[in-house]
Amino acid sequence: MEYKDLTEKEKIPALGLGTWHMGGGFRPDSSEDGKYLEAIDYAIGKGLTHLDTAELYGDGHAEELVGQVIKNFERKNLFITSKVSPVHLGYETILRSCEASRKRLGTDYIDLYLVHWPNPLASMKNAMAAFDKLVETGSVRFIGLSNFSAGQFAAAQKHARNKLVCDQVRYSLLDRRPEKELLDFCEKEKIILTAYSPLAEGRLAEMKIEALAQVAKKHGKTPVQVALRWLIDKPAVITIPKASSKEHIDEILGTLGWQLEKEDQERLDKA
Ligand code: NAP
Repeated sequence: MEYKDLTEKEKIPALGLGTWHMGGGFRPDSSEDGKYLEAIDYAIGKGLTHLDTAELYGDGHAEELVGQVIKNFERKNLFITSKVSPVHLGYETILRSCEASRKRLGTDYIDLYLVHWPNPLASMKNAMAAFDKLVETGSVRFIGLSNFSAGQFAAAQKHARNKLVCDQVRYSLLDRRPEKELLDFCEKEKIILTAYSPLAEGRLAEMKIEALAQVAKKHGKTPVQVALRWLIDKPAVITIPKASSKEHIDEILGTLGWQLEKEDQERLDKA
């Protein structure tokens, strides 16, 4: 695994496994539990020890699936991210949501706990007070946000005593919005930018993009591996593709251990 600095003392795996749509969409769906349990178990066994989930995914069932698998692994070797839904951003509701997530995950602590989306109706002062409380009681190790702009992030940080260490946002070769402002902000403030939907929900694997194919050929890699490498070659960026077959997980792991050259980056940036 490759790591990035989460804080001065703590590292975060640069590549993780996403779990959206494992165990259902907005409602729980157990019909493919076997497939997802096998995929999560296989991924961790192969070293993808960073798992990204949320109370929203399958209305908690994705966390239950992760929980079933991680009881077979040593907890300290894993990095678990989960998220509180924007409708639960009251002080007490955050504490209850986190408790419920920990129960479903079968873990005493969540490594990184995020606000899933901003909610203009919620008080960030109260939300950040609850996040600080979760750190101080040991329920979570680190706190952060998701889908927040640089301005929203900076405003939220003013209410939190603990550093917000991560902003998780949509970022891929097909969606470059974070490059407008957020990427520079994260690099400057030493915040991890976690790129979600890094394969544009699978479209990057299906589309025939000439530049991607040529860079992949040059390195003896696949377009999927180049698309993910393009992200984690950026100093502040990590990523969490979702994959539910051994073949896809193996391909994703081939992102590690090599680097794009400057000319490859430029070519992909332009394309
Ligand atoms: P994604 O990772 O861009 O794409 C997932 C899709 O790519 C799946 O259909 C998967 O298929 C396919 N895939 C994976 N590896 C492949 C390969 N080697 N070849 C071909 N296809 C491949 O999309 P995502 O799930 O939206 O994003 C990743 C994670 O980010 C989520 O699971 C979730 O944890 C997180 N996320 C967070 C937010 C947020 O608001 N914070 C929003 C969306 C997502 P299989 O499943 O069949 O392997």
